Amino acid sequence: MRAEILSVGTELLLGDILNTNAQYISRELANLGINVYYQTVVGDNPERLKNAYNFALSRADIVITTGGLGPTKDDLTKEIAAEYFNKKLILDNKSLEEILTFFKKINREVSENNRKQAYFPEGCIILKNNNGTAPGCIIEENNKIAILLPGPPKEMVPMLNEGVIPYLKKFQDGTLISKVLRITGIGESSVDNLIGYIIDRQTNPTVAPYAKDNEVTLRLTAKANSEEDAYKLIVPVEKEIRDKLGDINVYGVENESVEEIVAKLLIENKLTIATAESCTGGLLAGKLINYPGVSSVFLEGVVTYSNIAKINRLKVKEDTLNKFGAVSSECAAEMAEGIAKAASTNIGVSTTGIAGPGGGTDEKPVGLVYAGIYINGVVKTKQLNLVGNRQKIRDRAVASTLDWLRRELIAYLNKDSN
Ligand code: ATP
Repeated sequence: MRAEILSVGTELLLGDILNTNAQYISRELANLGINVYYQTVVGDNPERLKNAYNFALSRADIVITTGGLGPTKDDLTKEIAAEYFNKKLILDNKSLEEILTFFKKINREVSENNRKQAYFPEGCIILKNNNGTAPGCIIEENNKIAILLPGPPKEMVPMLNEGVIPYLKKFQDGTLISKVLRITGIGESSVDNLIGYIIDRQTNPTVAPYAKDNEVTLRLTAKANSEEDAYKLIVPVEKEIRDKLGDINVYGVENESVEEIVAKLLIENKLTIATAESCTGGLLAGKLINYPGVSSVFLEGVVTYSNIAKINRLKVKEDTLNKFGAVSSECAAEMAEGIAKAASTNIGVSTTGIAGPGGGTDEKPVGLVYAGIYINGVVKTKQLNLVGNRQKIRDRAVASTLDWLRRELIAYLNKDSN
């Protein structure tokens, strides 16, 4: 089955809003094993919408539209779909009742225009809208499927999940199961070098790589008669991938983040932590604090941006700063140890570097960052050479430091258990 997503709305073309609907629907269709060949965006102009609609249905089996189901004159998707399939728009009393109830609930008058939302192309499947006024619908005709969804994501997403996905599942032959592996520490090209032959095999399961900032993900998708059988197909391929890439580099699965893994390791092992940041300005602490429940182990985070703050709060030696400078391995080490001692934690993590755009020299260029990790008496530092603008350098410094912390924690815990 070939699908196309047609997003309707002039706001999208003007760049006022981001097309998150298309992203969401694409991802869900991929999970169902339905190929999305095109994503199209068109404004609320009747002529162009009609053309885009005809074109989409000429090259796809399923066309999913979002937007243009509202009560106003420029909301035309339903009318254009009805015309395409040569269907009359007829009143659905149940939908009208639901629209009237919705308006009563929010204490607003129902306009004639709102009644328009209760009219549907004859013979279609109506999709209830529990979060707004515009119901959606599905039209099946001549081996084509047109699915009309509302624009607001808070209405579209539940309608897709509750109405559309169960409907589309009936076209699936067999069960599809996906598992996402998340990889750090090796870039996309190295991943390709190491497991390219597995990706090329591409049978069952298929393996789809995707490179994001600071990580690579691999989606393994298997098809079988039952979920259990599909998982069984994934297991040996996942093992082969982990063996080739190195298990430590596969940091997590599905939607896990590095900070989540780190926070869980700290909590499970009752290891307390504090952070002292310079160039990352609190981003590192912020990432760790994203994880709920981290309060039992994350005791303190400071931003020591100036030399004087590093001396006063972290007991970094003046001599170190004079001799090596604030952006140095020596300073990162003293910062990490300093914050662990000041906060009485097992672990101290530090960052100090040059995020730019100015301030770099030949010897210490923009993008040079040192991170420090102190764990129960042992301090280590790492030099990072990062590229990008100020924001990217700071984000990458945080991502690298967190991943390094994950690796150090695993090594520390393994050593401890031996
Ligand atoms: P309504 O019943 O609110 O009129 P509608 O189905 O007519 O809904 P639109 O009028 O096209 O939808 O869009 C309503 C709002 O939904 C937009 O202002 C925007 O905030 C959001 N929206 C629309 N399309 C998208 C999209 N593709 N991605 C993300 N948000 C969207």
